[in-house]
Amino acid sequence: MTKSNFGAGCDIPILEKPQHRHEIDQVSTIAALLNGAYDGEVTVGELLTHGDFGLGTFDHLDGEMVVLDGEVFQIFADGRVRRPPPSLTTPFAAVTFFEQVASRALLAGLSFDDFTVDEDAHIPTPNIFYAIRIDGHFRSISARSVPRQSKPYPPLAEVAAQQSVFGFEDISGTILGFRCPSYVSGINVPGYHLHFISDDRTKGGHVLDFVAEQTTAAIDSTDAFSMMLPPASVFYEDHVSGSDDIALDAIERGQAHHAHIVLAR
Ligand code: ZN
Repeated sequence: MTKSNFGAGCDIPILEKPQHRHEIDQVSTIAALLNGAYDGEVTVGELLTHGDFGLGTFDHLDGEMVVLDGEVFQIFADGRVRRPPPSLTTPFAAVTFFEQVASRALLAGLSFDDFTVDEDAHIPTPNIFYAIRIDGHFRSISARSVPRQSKPYPPLAEVAAQQSVFGFEDISGTILGFRCPSYVSGINVPGYHLHFISDDRTKGGHVLDFVAEQTTAAIDSTDAFSMMLPPASVFYEDHVSGSDDIALDAIERGQAHHAHIVLAR
């Protein structure tokens, strides 16, 4: 654009970021979260301008986040589920505008591990991002949530030892989340990261395992990824490097020792 376009009396064009619907927008990095960066930086209200679907956690690591159909849910470590106020902040979340590009019924009896193998065989490439939602009825779901932390924040591996694990049987709802490529290590969770919310919106958590009954899995292929990094005060001073993939796997898939077991209600 030449300078004359900005002359007196001309409308100066407003450069807006083009709306890229097939994009994942993320707050902070998983490595920062692993290192205990639990102070919320972005409000739930702002997060919803970046997507209507996704997952994360809340300020002070106060529970698990589900974003589904534009609604945000907070699943506390005691199992309660609420709709948080738009002013509540998140230290880590990933959202997108979910637009289904393919769907298929899953075999009854399929476990989380079975699903990852099955889904890997269906996606066209492991090298882009996918948003995934599985709707329907599940034989069982094992899910966890984490308790609110206070400063000085312990690393996530220590918090995982205090996690609550919920065992849900014969339950309808939505499992949702992302499949990220292996090269995101340190930034997000390589592979599958899924959260759950029941149809009646009273139960949920970070999914450790599940067994499908009558379910449909839908995916949105995503070829764009954007990050919002926390401000200097927190993020610049932490030692944020890559993640420890073994520790991350233990935390994400519930291999942590001494998990606090809470019976399903
Ligand atoms: Zn999670």
